[in-house]
Amino acid sequence: MPEQPAERLADHTTLRLGGPARQWVRATSEEELTEAVTSAEAGEGPVLVLGGGSNVVVADAGFPGTVVEVATTGVTPDVEDDDPACGGVLVRVAAGEDWDAFVARAVESGWLGVESLAGIPGLVGATPIQNVGAYGQEVAQTIASVRVWDRVLKGVRTFANAECHFGYRTSRFKADPGRHVVLDVTFQLRQGSLGTPVQYAELAGALGVPLGERAPLAEVRDAVLALRRSKGMVLDPADHDTWSAGSFFTNPVVDAADLPPGAPAWPQPDGRAKTSAAWLIEHAGFGKGYGAGPVTLSTKHTLALSNRGGATTEQLLALAREVRDGVEAAHGIRLVPEPVLVGCEL
Ligand SMILES: Cc1cc2nc3c(=O)[nH]c(=O)nc-3n(C[C@H](O)[C@H](O)[C@H](O)COP(=O)(O)OP(=O)(O)OC[C@H]3O[C@@H](n4cnc5c(N)ncnc54)[C@H](O)[C@@H]3O)c2cc1C
Repeated sequence: MPEQPAERLADHTTLRLGGPARQWVRATSEEELTEAVTSAEAGEGPVLVLGGGSNVVVADAGFPGTVVEVATTGVTPDVEDDDPACGGVLVRVAAGEDWDAFVARAVESGWLGVESLAGIPGLVGATPIQNVGAYGQEVAQTIASVRVWDRVLKGVRTFANAECHFGYRTSRFKADPGRHVVLDVTFQLRQGSLGTPVQYAELAGALGVPLGERAPLAEVRDAVLALRRSKGMVLDPADHDTWSAGSFFTNPVVDAADLPPGAPAWPQPDGRAKTSAAWLIEHAGFGKGYGAGPVTLSTKHTLALSNRGGATTEQLLALAREVRDGVEAAHGIRLVPEPVLVGCEL
């Protein structure tokens, strides 16, 4: 297995932040992946399983153990791409596959259910961890099962969808950090030329269809990518607004009585309401581009903290604390970070 000298996390994270790792192993097969994790456990320091580095904030001091970079490949549908016979397809995707490339493949193949998740950075194996979602879809709606290496039981396990305990930006994998190494994810996707009913008003507006209606699969993907680009939410090395971890805070779920006047509210099954972290931030006095640099809020989206170049993780965390505390002082709601903090805290 190729084992390389220590590398800087900053070269492997979309924030371009994070110091050196003590050890670095790139695993290109499932065997290498489980072997790398198992032998790293026996070595010195902790183990960090890393995908695309788009949802992690790593300390300036770096990582005092082994980073296992997931680089496995394979997209295996149970039908031929052009065989619409059974109206559905089960597709097994290796953890190391690029998520956005898989969405593009799904749209080209007429597999529906992930088209609104186009443009989300990172790898397939990370998508079940926080149940990635955007524009009215989340992977929990299409994941049939997740195959993992269980680091506690030291064996391979398969969790059916219901066993993954998916929730808003969470899952059993996120709730039990570090225990499960995702090996592959099987998606159950319907086949057709129209996407799933559009559940997000802004996307419906961009497509010119009523909310709840369907639109051609490729048009949905294109519209999502255009909306995301306008918000700096598609990676672009030339655009510092995308040197981020995406949304830095999750949308809080609160008792309806605790909602600030005028705040957006999406009713939840438990009777509470989810509100917009971006709205709370803006209405606490932090506008787009806020900050003296080299870390600022994105100039296109208040919810993303961005590295303007030459920033440190400590500077990022300082701005995150300022925003979190300002929102709490203004609205009485404490924002919770969405990315995984590695070796640092807010
Ligand atoms: C510009 C931008 C836009 C974004 N937009 C969205 C969005 O719209 N919706 C959304 O939900 N997220 C969004 N994100 C966040 C991020 O892209 C997703 O969370 C993505 O799934 C992370 O994938 P990754 O491979 O980069 O994971 P990493 O950042 O490498 O890892 C994230 C966490 O998952 C763990 N992990 C990674 N791979 C595995 C594996 N195979 N097995 C076990 N654990 C693993 C890591 O240890 C870490 O704890 C955005 C990020 C950016 C930078």
